[in-house]
Amino acid sequence: MPNAPVLTDTFGRHIEYIRLSVTDRCDLRCNYCMPEDFRDFEEPKDWLNFDEIERLLGAFARLGLARVRLTGGEPLLRRHLPQLAQRIASIPGIEDLSLSTNATQLDKHAVALKAAGVTRLNVSLDSLRPERIKTITKRDVLPDILNGLAHAKQAGLAPIKINMVAMRGTNDDEIEDMVGFCMEHGFILRLIETMPIGKTGRNTAYMDLQPVKAMLASRFGLIDAAFPGGGPARYLATPDGRFSVGFITPISQHFCATCNRVRLSVDGTLYLCLGQENKFEFRPLLRDGATDCELDDAIRLAITYKPERHEFLEQPDKIVRFMSMTGG
Ligand code: SF4
Repeated sequence: MPNAPVLTDTFGRHIEYIRLSVTDRCDLRCNYCMPEDFRDFEEPKDWLNFDEIERLLGAFARLGLARVRLTGGEPLLRRHLPQLAQRIASIPGIEDLSLSTNATQLDKHAVALKAAGVTRLNVSLDSLRPERIKTITKRDVLPDILNGLAHAKQAGLAPIKINMVAMRGTNDDEIEDMVGFCMEHGFILRLIETMPIGKTGRNTAYMDLQPVKAMLASRFGLIDAAFPGGGPARYLATPDGRFSVGFITPISQHFCATCNRVRLSVDGTLYLCLGQENKFEFRPLLRDGATDCELDDAIRLAITYKPERHEFLEQPDKIVRFMSMTGG
């Protein structure tokens, strides 16, 4: 659309995508994310309520943002999430509404989410072995996840992407099985390198995905492929396009030069980069009655705080917060 507003940071990157964490709580405790003994959750009184979320996203959309991903913690733990999804999907300018979930509750919500306007789905699934899922997530939930996936497929949510965090010595022997599983069910696979986010991220054995990419390309005859969706993954696909696998490689080959996103945590803190602490607090503005103009100006100011890139290699101990606070 000519003259459509564009939100641009100081490095000339077009910021069109926000990952919205609607809760910092989760029913799982994945190795690389939330420690089992974590208790320091945000108080519900400090959560942005649905009116505040809708108003703030409305301001972002006014300035050119078009994509919203609902995340957590586990977003399906936030009560009445389909209602929030419907309100976000109705915001003028929002063209794409997706969800990232661990799928343990998905069987209950798939139909309502689809009806509310959620189109695309990312499901975390790091193994196909019940015992291994129990070790990674501290919960015996593989049947619930598979059941959730079946309900999502039935509800017509598509595409469905499977997010597998590759952990050396934990699930690296299962990558080809996961390819087979995704081929069989028509899912898109995304393999993700671990990041030093919090002590949990730092304590998880990193695995370079570049050799894995080469191995899968020769094993399954995959070719380079482009994929819509504005995400950081680099894709390979079968020549017939029936199967795709994406590689999210923040360590071995980062994608910061084309970064198009920011993250909003449940308490209204805008994190400008997953790998940095640059942030802007919106809750005080929203609760002190800021005008629409003041909100727009605050967003423009906040975007100038966006750093060029992460420093995961240079300063691996820098990020103390856990992945669950910003929803990956
Ligand atoms: S690390 Fe920061 S700059 Fe790089 S892609 Fe992620 S959010 Fe963007």
